[in-house]
Amino acid sequence: MKVYQRTENGTVTEVSVREALAEVNTAMMEGKRYVREMFSGRGQHSIEYKDGRSVRLVEVYAPREESEPREWHGTHSTFHHLHRMDETNRARCNRRIRANLVPPSGGRGPWGVFKRTRSEIENGESARLYTFCPKCATK
Ligand SMILES: [Zn+2]
Repeated sequence: MKVYQRTENGTVTEVSVREALAEVNTAMMEGKRYVREMFSGRGQHSIEYKDGRSVRLVEVYAPREESEPREWHGTHSTFHHLHRMDETNRARCNRRIRANLVPPSGGRGPWGVFKRTRSEIENGESARLYTFCPKCATK
């Protein structure tokens, strides 16, 4: 999610894209007479107000809200049947079931257990290949 980091005289806050652009538009239009100097670039704006306030707005990506845990992964024998793996990469339904190591996406870096959220998998290109362990789902 895109947001703007707003710095006014050294104080940093986070504002929505809409709020940031509203301030920029106001400074350019009806509030122009209160502005001494203004710079507007790609994802970056700075406004120097005549009252001495200096505002800088920079577009940033807000950290994604992780409401859903990344824990689904397959095993060596049934890589497309996914379990919820705990921190030690063992299935919640049966601790003898272990996650298999897979190559990194893009092929670079070490192999590992790259767990994903259920919605990530269900919304992915290969969603139809996967099934979810019903026992893990209810645990
Ligand atoms: Zn399971």
